[in-house]
Amino acid sequence: MPSELNLNDAVLTTRLDTVVNWARKNSLWPMPFGTACCAIEFMSVMASKYDMSRFGAEAMRFSPRQSDMMLVLGTVTNKLAPVLRTIYAQMAEPKWVISVGVCASSGGMYRTYATLQGIDRVVPVDVYVPGCPPRPESMLYGLMKLQEKIEKESLSMRKDHISRFYESLERQKELETSRGLSPQQAVREMILDAGDRGLATIF
Ligand code: SF4
Repeated sequence: MPSELNLNDAVLTTRLDTVVNWARKNSLWPMPFGTACCAIEFMSVMASKYDMSRFGAEAMRFSPRQSDMMLVLGTVTNKLAPVLRTIYAQMAEPKWVISVGVCASSGGMYRTYATLQGIDRVVPVDVYVPGCPPRPESMLYGLMKLQEKIEKESLSMRKDHISRFYESLERQKELETSRGLSPQQAVREMILDAGDRGLATIF
């Protein structure tokens, strides 16, 4: 007779969320949306001294369909806002956004009508990295904060989060077709409308 199995040694129990999130947080694929000097700082984060690949996030393809972590690195103008939204929409799901530097996070010193006063008005942001430009260590800290966030997420929560963005994209398309607006005009109108209603975002 074989001796009785001691299941305590042979079986490991856990939750599905935990296993999936563990895999997700250690295999992020970056999509750099670099528009200004913060993108230069990001180059050093990817290079050998700081080496973001230590965190499992080195597979950079510059293709939204092969990425799940967008890093917005620099000033984003109102004209560029619909482009940012399109690229975010094209990224693989689930997806996350890190806003790097004051320009991306709040418009920074560009308090002008032409500059988007924070990308979180048009796409959902998960982590903000302060600074002008943030040091490479700050960017890595931002990535670690995102990993912590992913670790705690439930799978359904992430779906709801993204679906609100897609609804706003449909509203944008509707405005473009029904009123003959350009994507820039439609997004601008949605931002102004949200502001009138006391909302900080359009989704
Ligand atoms: S935050 Fe500073 S370094 Fe980054 S894009 Fe803006 S001006 Fe350049």
